[in-house]
Amino acid sequence: MSDVEADKQSSAPTRYAVIGSPISHSKSPLIHALFAAQTQQAITYEAIEVLEDDFERFVGSWFASGGGGLNVTVPHKERAFAFAEITTPRATLARAVNTLSLDSAGRLVGDNTDGAGLLNDLIENYDTPIGGKRLLLLGAGGATRGVLAAIADLPNKPASITVANRTLSRAQGLASDFEGRLEIIAVSYDDLQQHEYDVVINGTSASLGGELPPLVPSLLAPDCCCYDMMYSAEPTLFLRWAKEHGAAKAIDGLGMLIGQAAVAFSLWRGVEPKTAEVILALRPKA
Ligand code: NDP
Repeated sequence: MSDVEADKQSSAPTRYAVIGSPISHSKSPLIHALFAAQTQQAITYEAIEVLEDDFERFVGSWFASGGGGLNVTVPHKERAFAFAEITTPRATLARAVNTLSLDSAGRLVGDNTDGAGLLNDLIENYDTPIGGKRLLLLGAGGATRGVLAAIADLPNKPASITVANRTLSRAQGLASDFEGRLEIIAVSYDDLQQHEYDVVINGTSASLGGELPPLVPSLLAPDCCCYDMMYSAEPTLFLRWAKEHGAAKAIDGLGMLIGQAAVAFSLWRGVEPKTAEVILALRPKA
């Protein structure tokens, strides 16, 4: 039975939540409340602190007690991937799960909506399709895997996909995991000197520590679009660097966060919320 069918048989709103640790900073409850108001869905959505070793017990009891669906964030995404009974093709490629639900047979299904969230943001909110473009991804962690998994589903693929990582072997491992689905060029930062790119996506956690990967300005093609998966009230170091060196667009990851939530919401509720107005509502006023 879908969540929406279950609602018809019950007067109580279906419960949703995001689980992680730490979680008190999460914007997801606000985002889902705005989606619910916009689409007139009667749901509740809360942020719940779940410690690493309590993950499986919590998820089991959540669904056993009629919970409608869970978002999963740091540090549980890999654990959620291992725990799900079924994983969608994009979650399987990403090896990480950020959305859990039960299917009609009561099996725990894991999906990964992070990459679709980023692509929706680029395409719908910034008019930047990546089909035919020279794409550079910085970092070879879970977030980059999620984006590549979503790209694997695109009918119109980039002209080339390069992944640069501080630890080259990790980028090479990622490229071989995607073999047969995407052709990925794995490089170290030193190898970026001679090439230019139309779209550069920062999927490193360097911005979190106020750091910047070692990038040369010559890698930015004219009209280059730079995207940082991280977001903060002030522009990240990577976005400041991009602007200083003439990038046409410098976009932070707020739209990705709202985009991944929108895909999860529509999986659970069967209606697609509009993200642009929610981005406006959450964007700090200048
Ligand atoms: P991981 O820990 O899995 O990967 C981190 C990556 O960053 C690795 O490739 C690591 O390189 C690289 N890295 C870390 N520090 C530096 C540095 N100082 N210089 C160069 N490279 C560095 O993290 P995730 O993939 O889960 O997340 C990455 C980023 O994406 C985070 O900032 C996260 O907040 C953001 N994110 C945003 C989302 C959104 O909705 N907006 C959703 C998901 C993630 P190495 O392999 O060499 O260690």
